[in-house]
Amino acid sequence: MAVTEPAAAVLSAAHEGILRRQSLRESSARTYARSLPIVPVRARGLTIEGADGRRYLDCLSGAGTLALGHNHPVVLEAIKRVIDSGAPLHVLDLATPVKDAFITELFATLPRGLADNARVQFCGPAGTDAVEAALKLVRTATGRSGLLAFTGAYHGMTAGALDASGGAQDVRVTRLPYPYDYRCPFGAGGERGAELSARWTENLLDDPKSGVAHPAGMILEPVQGEGGVIPAPDEWMRRMRRITADRSIALIADEVQTGVGRTGAFWAVEHSGIVPDVMVLSKAIGGSLPLAVVVYRADLDVWEPGAHAGTFRGNQLAMAAGAATLAYVRENRLAERAAVLGARMMGQLQGLAADHPCIGNVRGRGLMIGIELVDPDAALGDGSRTSTGVPPAASALAAAVQQECLERGLIVELGGRHAGVVRLLPPLTLTDEQASAVLDRLADALSAAERSPYHRQQTGLSN
Ligand code: PMP
Repeated sequence: MAVTEPAAAVLSAAHEGILRRQSLRESSARTYARSLPIVPVRARGLTIEGADGRRYLDCLSGAGTLALGHNHPVVLEAIKRVIDSGAPLHVLDLATPVKDAFITELFATLPRGLADNARVQFCGPAGTDAVEAALKLVRTATGRSGLLAFTGAYHGMTAGALDASGGAQDVRVTRLPYPYDYRCPFGAGGERGAELSARWTENLLDDPKSGVAHPAGMILEPVQGEGGVIPAPDEWMRRMRRITADRSIALIADEVQTGVGRTGAFWAVEHSGIVPDVMVLSKAIGGSLPLAVVVYRADLDVWEPGAHAGTFRGNQLAMAAGAATLAYVRENRLAERAAVLGARMMGQLQGLAADHPCIGNVRGRGLMIGIELVDPDAALGDGSRTSTGVPPAASALAAAVQQECLERGLIVELGGRHAGVVRLLPPLTLTDEQASAVLDRLADALSAAERSPYHRQQTGLSN
């Protein structure tokens, strides 16, 4: 039904009022709300409808949480079943049939080498709390405190997780170079760059004068998400597994963002075939509701009762929604679908790069896609090329692309070192037609942003 003009004016006023009150009452630390001034009131699948009646294709998916999109029927049905059954919604960490079914489903999907002899710890419902638990677990089990973590990493916002992330410094954390092909820290890229990253790691661990004490664990993202959608090569992942196994260092895979089919395998570690000692899982495992767990080798389970407590470790609705999501992704082979569709979309985006010199690099895995925007004119010898030899990130252009996308009813995320990477994290249920619509809008937005005075002003370009 078409919205009449007076009705549209009422909707628009309500929408403006909510946004105005948000900016008056909510914290200045708010994030997504700044670049996406929309007021979602309804959502289904890929689509969000705002309070002003506008519709958006959502390729942010709750920061990669919504494997099945918004309000998928199997998720809603699972939630309704728990509510209708009269089951308690809050149970701390007590056993329930809902939790039992979730663990069974989760273990059915995990790499066999881990699932066959694993333990699971339910955490406070955020990825960052599960990261904290993982760090505590390996420190307790090894009696060591050092941690190996990577440049560009993002593991969360609580103290330990933040220390393991790229922006922070903790004396117990040794920072290692992540294999970032496009901006290789060794200026080599490709297999050679990854090889040098591995050698650097080995050398630090084996040189008695490197200043790095024998660490408890290594934490890595198989594809860095917030860092700018940077997939680690499979061979490099196997190398990290060997390096850590040979030295009794626990390997922690942070699959908070990469899990549940997102990268074209159910878990991203499957691409390389490695079995980590610890996996940190959140986001999609709760089927859109908050849930976070650590799964680990049983012999690491030597921490004391209460070592990682928390009131909200028993969210029954999230476990039911999560179990339904895991089962749906598994039964409908959505990881395979993500691999095929993601490869096709990346191919099309690479084609787009021919007409847009500002597209420096298109990369990703499955439906975790990044488009790194650069300032190509800075590569002409004006001294502003970066140390890695490629043009600098075009942050202002990326922000303009995000805004132009929003204008065209498309929600995208930004990431990367200088927020210069446009990120796509669509639901795994994306249809071919929807994928085309997303790419059409993005291409249009890119052209508009390149022409936009805002971006030209920021980069100092003139007509
Ligand atoms: N690890 C990774 C890889 C993440 O992407 C995130 C969130 N983007 C986190 C941990 C932290 O999760 P949360 O925001 O739920 O604390």
